[in-house]
Parts: sequence; structure tokens; C-alpha cells
Amino acid sequence: MKCRQCGQSFDQCVLDLGAHPPSNAYLTEQGLRQPERRYPLRLMVCPHCWLAQVEDATAAEELFGADYAYFSSFSTSWLAHAAACVESAVQRFALGADSLVVEVAANDGYLLQYVAERGVPHYGIEPTAAAAAAARARGIDVVGEFFGAALAARLRAERGGADWIVANNVLAHVPDLNDFVAGFACLVKESGVISFEFQYLPELVGQNQFDTIYHEHFSYLSLLSVEPLLARHGLAAFDVERLSTHGGSLRLWVAPAVVRRGDSPALSALRAEEARAGLAGLDFYRQMGRRAERAAVAVLGFLADAARAGKTTVAYGAAAKGNTLLNFAGVTSLLLPYVVDRNPHKQGQAMPGSRIPIVDESRIRATRPEYVLILPWNLRAEIEQQLAYIREWGGRFVIPIPELVIE
Ligand SMILES: [Zn+2]
Repeated sequence: MKCRQCGQSFDQCVLDLGAHPPSNAYLTEQGLRQPERRYPLRLMVCPHCWLAQVEDATAAEELFGADYAYFSSFSTSWLAHAAACVESAVQRFALGADSLVVEVAANDGYLLQYVAERGVPHYGIEPTAAAAAAARARGIDVVGEFFGAALAARLRAERGGADWIVANNVLAHVPDLNDFVAGFACLVKESGVISFEFQYLPELVGQNQFDTIYHEHFSYLSLLSVEPLLARHGLAAFDVERLSTHGGSLRLWVAPAVVRRGDSPALSALRAEEARAGLAGLDFYRQMGRRAERAAVAVLGFLADAARAGKTTVAYGAAAKGNTLLNFAGVTSLLLPYVVDRNPHKQGQAMPGSRIPIVDESRIRATRPEYVLILPWNLRAEIEQQLAYIREWGGRFVIPIPELVIE
């Protein structure tokens, strides 16, 4: 394939997860009567710039259709994270009534609502119709288009440069990385800053988070692979924060390179840490395969053993990572009769591939299952608290990643 970052050809596959439907292609009743399209899901690593990436098999329109069902505000811990991020940025960069904050992939306004509370001018960019509508319902100004160099040039001309551009969990999800980053370089003021939050690849490798690999997640990012991308567009990182979100993320602070802000001690330390860990070598990435297979076999084996013993296991969290795990392990409703999700937009539909029905939480109280498999393990504490009542009938939680545990 051709590398999405440096453009060179390569064919180094480090993990083959088989063929999967797009992980957000939830099935309606009508969809269940039709065949599903599946695409190879293989993690590739470019030996020229070390960007880990999945092959580009599906068109963006199919991945992020109008009914794209992910809403940020449904997670309580994620809202607290966004509020804290806004608070620290407003103080650190002295943002006020004369500043402009722009969020790319503003979703339903989960973060900009806190910017609005502080009276800082702002707008969001969100191509997904349902999420943009939800943000507008909160009174947030949203541009409903895909972000890239062309849109950024237009917005810069119409609305001026931005003092802070926020991009949380989107950099890894764009098919055209270079066009996307060029947009930030165009839209940010020379004195402005950009914060990119993304899941951190070394955490994915270290914590066996292979289930966070799916088609809509095009790139898997490290400092080593992101710095040359920024440099190509006249940008440079000046600081980094390690975050616990999504199993381990980075918040990278970036500014126009001409400003020469200098590297923070944390940034220099992380660069050295990646060099020591061997990120500039394929062996580092290849350790994922065997661990991923072991985890998938453990889940399938657990479900089969429980079913043979007459015990029921259900799942919580109809998220993309659940789909990768269930489809890689070959789990269907035979072993897992339903998945609970809080999002009413997903309820009544079925998981892509596994075709397991998605229902609301009242089903757990009604059917009293012996086990609840928590698919979004990154929200494990929150979910265990929310479902603590399963202990009333001796119910237990099962966490599949990094290794299966029963609690
Ligand atoms: Zn490359």
C-alpha cells in the first residue's frame, strides 16, 4: 500500500485480524435481511516514517454516514475530561473574549459547551449530521463539513485565525492525513496553539489493545510518526501530556514552527523513551499478533464454558472496539444473546458482523445474567459502578483486555 503520511509504497503487515464490516455499520431490521460487506482488517507499518495504519478499504461516506451513531456526551467521564481540558487551556493561554477557539470534530458540543460557559468566542466543525444537530441544539455554532485545507482556507478568510484549535480523537480517523494537518496550519494564528489528542500506539502495543484497531481508525500514532507529519506542514510540537483516556493517550501541544517555542522537558523525555523502546523497528509492532490471538481465544473459550454450564453472559457497550473483538473471535448471539448500550440511537439495531441485538439496560435486570462482559474496558470503572446491582443475584463482570479477568 501507499503510506498515508510519507507517500512511499510498503507491504509490512504486523497484525492480520481477518475480514470485518465497518465497525460503526450497525444493522437495522432492514440491514439484517441483507448481506454485509466485509473488508480485510490488517495493521501495516511503514518502515520509512513508522506510521502504523490500516489499509484503506472503505470510502469515508460508508464509514461516517448521516446516521453515525457515536455521541461523545453519553460518557460521564469523558465530559469531565473535556471540562478539565478547557479549564487548563483557558488559563495557560489566557483565552478570553478577544480569542477564538475552534474545535475540529466537535461532535455534539461535549467540549465547546465549556468554552461557551467561559464566554470565549468559538465554533465547531462536525461533518456528521446527527452530531452537528445535537451541538446546534445546545446553541453551538457548527460548520457541517469535512475539515481539510480547502475548508480551513475559507474559514480563515471568513472568520479569521484561531487562538486554540482543539482536535480530540480525530487525527487518527482521517483518511487524508496531509490535507487534514495542512488545514490546521492554515487556520491557526501565528501566536496560536493546537492540541491534538490521540490514542498512543505504544500503549496499544503494551496493553494488548488490538480491539481498538478498526477500519474507521486509519492511523495509530506515536510521537515518532507525528513529528515529521507536523514538520511537513510548518508545525512543531512544543509540549506533551500523557492521559489515561482510551487506554492511554497523548495530548500534543503544537504551534507554527516559525515561533520556535522550544521543547518542554516532557516532550524531550518522550522522544527518548520511544527511541529506547524501539519504535523505529518492526519487531516492536510484531509483538501484537500472538497476544491478540490469545485474548480472542480466551473470550471465546470463556463464553463457551459458561454456556455449557448453563450460565448466561451478556455484553455491555456497543462500541467499535467491541466489534473488532467479537468479530475477530467469531462470537455471535449463540454465546452472547445481547449487548446493552445507553445510547438510544443504537438500541433496536444489531452489532455489525456478529449481528448481536443492542438493547437498553432494563434487559439486564429482567434477565439477571450470570456474567456481564465489559467491551469498552477503558470505561470499566464507570460501568461497574453503574451496574453494581448485578451483585444482588451473584452476577460478575468479565474484562477481556489486556487479558481476560473475572471480577
Ligand atoms: Zn510512511
